[in-house]
Amino acid sequence: MSSERATEYPVRISVDEARARVLDVARAHRVATDRVPLDRALGRVLAVDVVAPHPLPPFANSAMDGYALRGADLPREGEKRFRNLGVMLAGTHDALAVGAEECVRITTGAPLPRGADTVVIKENVRVAGDAIVVPAGDAIGANVRPAGEDLPEGAFAARAGERLTPARLGLVASCGLANVTVTKLPRVALFVTGDELVPPGTRLGFGQIHDSNRYSIGGLLESAGIVAEPVAHIRDDVDALREALIEAAATCDVIITSGGVSAGEADHVTPLVAELGRIDFWKVRMKPGMPFLCGEIGRAIVFALPGNPVSSMATFLALVEPALREMQGDETPERRWRAKLAEPVKKKHDRTEFLRARIVCGDDGVLRAGPVERQGSGQMGGAAEADALVVIGEAVRSLEAGEVVDVLFLPGAVR
Ligand code: AMP
Ligand code: MG
Repeated sequence: MSSERATEYPVRISVDEARARVLDVARAHRVATDRVPLDRALGRVLAVDVVAPHPLPPFANSAMDGYALRGADLPREGEKRFRNLGVMLAGTHDALAVGAEECVRITTGAPLPRGADTVVIKENVRVAGDAIVVPAGDAIGANVRPAGEDLPEGAFAARAGERLTPARLGLVASCGLANVTVTKLPRVALFVTGDELVPPGTRLGFGQIHDSNRYSIGGLLESAGIVAEPVAHIRDDVDALREALIEAAATCDVIITSGGVSAGEADHVTPLVAELGRIDFWKVRMKPGMPFLCGEIGRAIVFALPGNPVSSMATFLALVEPALREMQGDETPERRWRAKLAEPVKKKHDRTEFLRARIVCGDDGVLRAGPVERQGSGQMGGAAEADALVVIGEAVRSLEAGEVVDVLFLPGAVR
């Protein structure tokens, strides 16, 4: 085999170009589909449209507890007596029938008796022996939920590409479907690298720090519905890292690494991805997060995040999460919001800045983003205070308070 490899790949590209490229790579690595029961489908992306096999609701039913009758018989003025023929509760098997000036007591969700098209609520009538007295005032069809008013038969209940929210799951269940076809979750390996790292719960020796990225990046993954497996700490040892990458590439769809992707002497990720596979691009004009790398080893995508804790979070949110969603066929791989700056912002560099900011919704209904104090790429205290990353474009040097900016919410900040 030739040891010659193309080393030509774009370096120091813009965030927009990086996003376009990771989405392209993700589209080329779409995951397979899976048929799952509804109780395992929450948060998954539908791979096949769901069509209502019957109308919703399936039959005309009462929206209230009251009396079902023929609307044409309602009094125009004064009041009128209706003979009560019996009762129909929700779940009843027996359909009664009403004729002129007759009624049936009915509860919410019960099918209408034959001949009835209107329900008068029980608080509005007077019971008089085996009859009720109904005052004028109700319209024909009142308090009835017609069959198909929510969804007619054959209508789309949910579309391929939509994420199954609790409400969508409920809708699919109302359609009577026990299973849905969704895309699989990408299998993701997470490797944190660095000789200085020790796990929380361990006493720090000289020069050591606790590994926090395992939890912050692991948490971002979990918030996106993915539990990484395997998760491992790899020392800054080229052979150990090579072995881990080869093994993960054989079983995983995505390999996420943290650290070791700069150009320092203990930074082995970039040469290893070039050696074992190929590099799509390296370094993105963003702050924090510059050294981000995207590549491929075998069938696995490699996203190499810088080790600085805030940089790893910013690159994950800006580039990795959209790619993971795109791999699942999610119709909205990136969720950017807009807010107004709560204070002026200045910047000197030519990179896209991801400022950590608190987001507050004022009484005027406007979201306002106020940058937090600690903006260092290693300052997780600042990130922990923030609700979102405010995106300040490369060319921008200063913004006034009140100017509109894009924001990427951190998970947990909004439901
Ligand atoms: P690196 O990208 O490996 O050069 O690391 C950049 C900075 O991030 C260094 O200060 C590292 O100690 C720190 N760092 C790397 N990995 C982690 C991690 N898993 N948890 C916390 N800090 C980290
Ligand atoms: Mg390192």
